[in-house]
Amino acid sequence: AKEAGRNGIHFYDESMDARARSRLALEYEIRRGLENGEFEAFYQPRVDCFTGEIVGAEALARWRHPERGLLFPDSFIPACEESGLIRELDRQILAQVARQLACWQGQGRILQVSVNLSASQFADPELSSVLQQILQQSGCPAASIELEITESLLLAHDQHTLETLASLQAMGFAIAIDDFGTGYSNLAYLQNYPLNTLKIDRSFISGLPQRSAIPELITSLCRILKLAMVAEGVETHAQLDWLRQQGCQQYQGYLCSRPLSLRHFNELLEYSTAP
Ligand code: C2E
Ligand code: CA
Ligand code: CA
Ligand code: CA
Repeated sequence: AKEAGRNGIHFYDESMDARARSRLALEYEIRRGLENGEFEAFYQPRVDCFTGEIVGAEALARWRHPERGLLFPDSFIPACEESGLIRELDRQILAQVARQLACWQGQGRILQVSVNLSASQFADPELSSVLQQILQQSGCPAASIELEITESLLLAHDQHTLETLASLQAMGFAIAIDDFGTGYSNLAYLQNYPLNTLKIDRSFISGLPQRSAIPELITSLCRILKLAMVAEGVETHAQLDWLRQQGCQQYQGYLCSRPLSLRHFNELLEYSTAP
């Protein structure tokens, strides 16, 4: 190994398997894509369960790849997370969303958009200053943005997490727990941290109305803790009916719409509020 190691390049080439090489190529492409503005926010409507009104959206990243067309998160988020490029991706999506929210407000449309925040973005000491800059450049009020984080971030009861959440809320952002119920069953954090919304994971909604024990539990939890509740992945009227009966305020899902490009989301907004 020492012999081969003398010629660094040769040694490196031989020991790298095909998978690692294609991962590197993907990272390189993502980096280039981020520089060229190829990533864009799609918007999935967030709907009032009772009125059917579109009250906001979740921003979901898509990659308009110059050769391979429109790519979904499963093909680039893991590589972004491994390489640390996820922070730049999240920053770009947030900036697009903030600009768009300011634009809608100019048109008199009041919407709230939630954005996914990766674990590494959440842990980044520069998070507050990045967010502050985005707000300043866009003129978007923080209250129009909800930051979605996953349960796993909250399991360690450390001071840093508490301070980060408190400072985000002090800036005016709403905080949502994404995929609620799929993490470990340590509920203590719900009392310990400042939170606004629980998003019930699609895996629980898909069993409704038959398998309802966990959704029922989560609905009571939200009521007792005074948290807003959003049901994810609602696909049928029977699921929506069940959620209404339980008093769940908002849902997302194919029943209303898939995530849409900005143009198509705007068309849906026009159409759903047309006289
Ligand atoms: P997520 O945050 O849990 O987003 C919900 C996913 O469920 C989205 O997949 C959405 O298209 C899909 N979905 C929504 N309604 C339905 C439904 O009724 N039925 C079914 N079968 N699926 C539904 P998508 O867009 O492929 O995103 C996958 C994941 O990638 C997201 O899961 C999120 O964890 C991550 N992601 C997406 N965009 C970003 C981003 O900008 N930053 C970060 N850090 N992560 C992102
Ligand atoms: Ca999410
Ligand atoms: Ca989710
Ligand atoms: Ca998810």
